[in-house]
Amino acid sequence: MLLEVFNLSGDSLRVRFGPAGRPPSFKGPIVELPVFLRNEGLDALEYQAVRGVRISEDTAKRLGHVAKECDVLLSLHAPYAINLSSAKKETIEASKERLVASLQAAYWMGAHVVVFHPGYYGKYTPEEALGLCIAALKEVRERAKSLGIQGVLLGPETTGKLSQVGSLEEIIKMCEEVEDTVPVIDWAHIHSREQGLFRSKEDYLRITNIIEERLGHGIVKSLHCHFTKVEYGKKGELRHHPLEAEGYGPPFEPLAELIVEHGYSFTIISESPLLDVDAIRMKSILESIRSTIKQR
Ligand SMILES: [Zn+2]
Repeated sequence: MLLEVFNLSGDSLRVRFGPAGRPPSFKGPIVELPVFLRNEGLDALEYQAVRGVRISEDTAKRLGHVAKECDVLLSLHAPYAINLSSAKKETIEASKERLVASLQAAYWMGAHVVVFHPGYYGKYTPEEALGLCIAALKEVRERAKSLGIQGVLLGPETTGKLSQVGSLEEIIKMCEEVEDTVPVIDWAHIHSREQGLFRSKEDYLRITNIIEERLGHGIVKSLHCHFTKVEYGKKGELRHHPLEAEGYGPPFEPLAELIVEHGYSFTIISESPLLDVDAIRMKSILESIRSTIKQR
């Protein structure tokens, strides 16, 4: 079932790496980006619709075609202007529309998941805000279904600021309650929310264990993730840093070890300021860990 949803099979099930959007060194049209990434040895791309879903059906389909040819797995990041737990009815309605538009564009391009930040607590308690998000997501699912949009998962993301709905627990609850919904794990965001949670492999393992217990092995095996080094304050995430920046976490090596040891096929989207450069760096760290483990 999950294989079908992800449109993945055999060889395409592996750890994949790619950038969140256009690398600074890529100057061409978006439809040529998968070729550029393949030539860099990368095989994933998160299309950024963060300032609005503006891609045409034709461009989306062409991008999807080229990505497929290049074996680059696509995902789509929905607009930041989404708040499913707003105190204003109009804001919730507009947010649902933006999510449906994101699902539509993802469907055109063959992206398997729409990543989004669910909302803000505002004046609500966490329980109330979560309830509003779940109700809105159920309606988004229905509306997408009525438009004939199939095979695109909703991917609520663990968020980095304490004002945002999106603790691991809240994201898991959404996935339990809403059909065709998978958790998107932004490791830097969890690290920021939890004031520097990740130091060792065991710290990462605690999270994957929770996901496995609650949502099953199929979900944890093919997690869609974001990774970057991050700086945080009392209220959570402040800014992203490159992988080699000194003094910031979370560390990538223990996560890579966990992935190799468990045979996971995560998709890891680099959200570092260096995007593709750090995606390549993470890929090579994972490969060198894999070859040391083999030699043991
Ligand atoms: Zn995000």
